Amino acid sequence: MKNGQCRACGSHEVRSNRNRKFPALNTITLTVGSSVARYASLDTYVCVTCGYAENYVTSAEDLEYIRENWKPVGVRYDNSDRTPENGHRIPEQELISRVGNGE
Ligand SMILES: [Zn+2]
Repeated sequence: MKNGQCRACGSHEVRSNRNRKFPALNTITLTVGSSVARYASLDTYVCVTCGYAENYVTSAEDLEYIRENWKPVGVRYDNSDRTPENGHRIPEQELISRVGNGE
């Protein structure tokens, strides 16, 4: 998505609010303490052809907080559920062939 191409449908009609001039309302709650709450802003990318959307935490400080405080998901090697039909996810090899190497 960040490279301007939709990973779900291949369209180049991807828009982003990353250059917005107002605070992001789209956030993740990182922690809620007794006196302070902490949120990470999300940059959103939307494909205006199919509606697929992705969010990214972009602040290095927020990413470091998450790295230190959230639990790892771990790696699954079973890719059988990753098809465009059931989850808008594309097997890695197909994705690489569609968009070239990397974002
Ligand atoms: Zn799309």
